[in-house]
Amino acid sequence: MESLKVRRKSLIWISGLTCNGNSHSFLSSSSLSFDAFLNSVNILFHPALTYDREFKDIYKDILEGKLKLDFLIVEGAVSKKKTKVYFQGFDIYEILENLKNIAEYIIAVGNCASFGNFPALYSEDVVGLNFRFNQRNGFFEGDFTTKSGMPIINISGCPAHPEWIIKTVLSLSYGYDLKLGSLQRPKDFYMYLTHDGCTRNQYFEWKVEAEEFGTKEGCLFYYLGCRGPLTHSSCNKILWNDKSSKTRAGMPCIGCTEFDFPLRGKYFETKLNIGIPEEVPLGVSKRAYIMLSGVAKTFTNHRLKGKLEEAD
Ligand code: SF4
Repeated sequence: MESLKVRRKSLIWISGLTCNGNSHSFLSSSSLSFDAFLNSVNILFHPALTYDREFKDIYKDILEGKLKLDFLIVEGAVSKKKTKVYFQGFDIYEILENLKNIAEYIIAVGNCASFGNFPALYSEDVVGLNFRFNQRNGFFEGDFTTKSGMPIINISGCPAHPEWIIKTVLSLSYGYDLKLGSLQRPKDFYMYLTHDGCTRNQYFEWKVEAEEFGTKEGCLFYYLGCRGPLTHSSCNKILWNDKSSKTRAGMPCIGCTEFDFPLRGKYFETKLNIGIPEEVPLGVSKRAYIMLSGVAKTFTNHRLKGKLEEAD
């Protein structure tokens, strides 16, 4: 019987202006996911993984049509001008121009490639692939689509969770219909808020607030600036290292998956106006927030008042 041979999808990973945090995150994925990824995807080039080959050779073969390119992954912000940002000796401007009609999919990994992030604060020319913050004036402007008909796919986060990267690529490899939100992020990972699945939800509801980092008790919203109720991510549904998340460990969410992450400036504090947070959870009116908080504060949930380890 003739064996059914399925071509593994091919991928190259290039980097612009970046701290390489997304590569670190990607390389920390669980071994099961990573094995599944390696079995399904042929990584033609990644700056840390493919030490046995040169980018220039792979790039040349792709341009000459000797190698097919399914996924072009970009980590880091890029420049709209030539001769500003280089990767492996090549102007990244030219790499993107040359590969934009060759790659089936182009995926921006991390906030710098998605929205420009911190590097974009220093120059108008520094951008994400399709966006500069929330404006569609990135390297590729407007409604740009790749060969597959898909727009640039943004996997935002500083860094992005390895499972979001792996599952996006695998979903597309196996023909799954990937739904994207208005900022072109896969809905499977960004339709939730960090608040969803946080182990501190009862504290939030009963208005029992933590005043210091690293405790198991209390919600981190009021005093410590947690952005969980305002940030799209599945950090508390797909846990980091399969175990935890910032908020579970007592560290407030800093909203790093959102386009305005570096624009907000101050972290770890909630701006208050006469004791009322200036920003309330998404989807809730200020009036509703004040009324519900007032009611919650009128009552006491005795279980949540003390240390969890001492509660029965
Ligand atoms: S710590 Fe943050 S994410 Fe968790 S319940 Fe409080 S506000 Fe929501």
